[in-house]
Amino acid sequence: MPGSVPRAALRWDSVSWLRIMQHPDFRESAGNDPVKKIKQERLVKLLFFIFLAAAGGLGLAFLYFHDPVSTRWLPQCAFYRLTGFYCSGCGTTRALYAALHGEFYVAFRYNLLLFPSLVLIGVLLWKPHLALRTWVAYPVLIILVLYWILRNIPVYPFLLLAPH
Ligand SMILES: [Zn+2]
Repeated sequence: MPGSVPRAALRWDSVSWLRIMQHPDFRESAGNDPVKKIKQERLVKLLFFIFLAAAGGLGLAFLYFHDPVSTRWLPQCAFYRLTGFYCSGCGTTRALYAALHGEFYVAFRYNLLLFPSLVLIGVLLWKPHLALRTWVAYPVLIILVLYWILRNIPVYPFLLLAPH
């Protein structure tokens, strides 16, 4: 009975990131019990974040010991390799490597958007529905496209945006 579910619990359910990635089998396993469903969603969300933190931690630990500049087998940006132009993401791995070694200015120069992106990704992982809001999606898109264009202009001060 939806009427027996606390309003706050329903609201939590309606903004859940799982709404996007829920598998039908998973949804049916809770039957018609909305409270049970919400508890299941919270558990899967928690497990997802634990997995993400573990995978992210392993990735960062690996990167700490492998400088992207001198590690030839680390994947290069496909867009840069094909076109010779930088994309908005170019320099991210090198920026992360620099940041891991405390060189934040270097990281900033490799990719200006690294730190804002990390904050944004964190927020969107927790509240994915925000990605659909125009006041979030449009500014993010505009910034990404502007950065993509400006960092390819080989004239000062835009040169500073290139990942060197
Ligand atoms: Zn790129």
